[in-house]
Amino acid sequence: SGPRTLREFAETTWAFGERPFLVAESGTLTYGEFFAAASALACRFTEEYGLVPGDRVAIAMRNHPEWQIAFWAAQLAGVVAVPLNAWWTEPELTYALDDCTPRLLLVDGERLPRMDAWRRRRGARCVVFHGDGPRAEGVERYEDFPAPDPYAAPPAVDVAPEADATIIYTSGTTGRPKGAVATQLAQAGATVHPRFHATAAALARGAVPGQGPSPVTLMTFPFFHVAAFTTLYAMMGVGGTLVLMRRWDAERALALVEEHRVTHYSGVPATALQLLDAARRTGAGLETLTHLNTGGAAPPPDLVGRLTAAYGRRIEPRNGYGLTETSGGMLAASGDGYRADPGGVGRPAPAVETRVAGPSGEALPEGEVGELWIRGQGVVRGYWRDPAASAAAFHEGWFRTGDLATARDGRISIVDRLTDMIVRGGENVYCVEVEAALHGHPDVDDCAVLGMPHPELGEEVAAVVRLRPGATAGPGDLREHVGAVLAAFKVPAHVVLRDEPLPRNATGKILKRELRDGFVAQRV
Ligand code: ATP
Repeated sequence: SGPRTLREFAETTWAFGERPFLVAESGTLTYGEFFAAASALACRFTEEYGLVPGDRVAIAMRNHPEWQIAFWAAQLAGVVAVPLNAWWTEPELTYALDDCTPRLLLVDGERLPRMDAWRRRRGARCVVFHGDGPRAEGVERYEDFPAPDPYAAPPAVDVAPEADATIIYTSGTTGRPKGAVATQLAQAGATVHPRFHATAAALARGAVPGQGPSPVTLMTFPFFHVAAFTTLYAMMGVGGTLVLMRRWDAERALALVEEHRVTHYSGVPATALQLLDAARRTGAGLETLTHLNTGGAAPPPDLVGRLTAAYGRRIEPRNGYGLTETSGGMLAASGDGYRADPGGVGRPAPAVETRVAGPSGEALPEGEVGELWIRGQGVVRGYWRDPAASAAAFHEGWFRTGDLATARDGRISIVDRLTDMIVRGGENVYCVEVEAALHGHPDVDDCAVLGMPHPELGEEVAAVVRLRPGATAGPGDLREHVGAVLAAFKVPAHVVLRDEPLPRNATGKILKRELRDGFVAQRV
């Protein structure tokens, strides 16, 4: 049971009619208004632009409500939506555009200049949202389109469950971004997991989905990131509301929580911490908040502790784990289970299978470290036009996550990324463990542990640390601190202090490749 395509999912959520769906600075769109707008745009795709199933449309915008209108228009028209990272520079965008070759670009005025050369070269059509530049040949403005008929129906196209629904690029934390291709069935599968959790949460509070008060989520994930989809689907499944921000600002977030009586916070761990800091600084009570959901990257070890110290059990913490290749959250730790094991990512969602696999793919006994494999409806079918990478990562429905994990009583903990693990003289050193030890030092604000080449050992442990303002610890103190909690071979041989923030990507993951290059330069 459950929907088999995103269009089917959309059709069920349409019934939330008058409920507010998207709240933005520009105003509020109800579910009814939203889908009328998406239907009208979808009709334009098929009737005026002649888009057919399989065609790609690229979306590059800030978190404007129109981002979602563009995405759902693509789904209603049965074409493939390609959300592009809104922070990418022109060369990064060009790389992805050359890879997925969209026929239509749906962009905001800020991003058009970075994509315009590609558009001209390839003759792609373009619709600009929130743009005030000159009108140009081949570029239409969304604001010039007639207001949608409130009863607009979507185009009459059959969307097959096997058809491609989305191509979402991986973050590129470990290499070049790869386009993960999700079928309609995979995306539809992804609508069920978060919905299960959100529904369960709503029921636990005595609310029945679709009736009575519904959740209001402050959405701080960028829409182009897969973590945003988990939140989006969860809210659509129960007729909830998403409060949008044009850009992240912790104090503005506090004001929005109060103004819109926000119940759920959803974002990367880094912004969640900033929200808690801002609340403490300003004395804001976060009175309406019941859930703090983070995902997309490992939360710092003390996030849950700080939340519980400040708010007791009133605000439920939740840590979602997933990847672009699994179409979002596949495992989650929440409530007391998460409080008791703040380093864990909890259990798989219903109908999701996990395996901690040894070198030849065999399931390892509990407690042993191996690569986490995931199987379930949300797993994508492969990488766009990259059969070699697809064959290496996907096998009989299983996806090899590239994360090292352990399982205990069915609960999973992520130990490190396979590519980050340091092999020092034959001993494995997990960066995450050393980073947690460093975070335990009161002077440490942020840190990253990486492997550096070493002539005899193969690799040696190194750390880049940013201290809190006014802190005085030196590299020797930090090494001593780590040595008191971890075996000597895990203690970083080199500690470099740095003043600037560590470089991070959209989900707050530290860009170790960049640090490594800088580190080498600094030590020469
Ligand atoms: P690339 O594959 O191009 O390097 P990426 O894997 O960083 O990109 P994403 O799909 O955005 O791209 O990130 C998935 C990764 O994020 C996971 O493999 C895992 O390492 C990490 N991750 C996500 N959620 C969590 C979590 N809750 N706890 C720990 N790690 C997480």
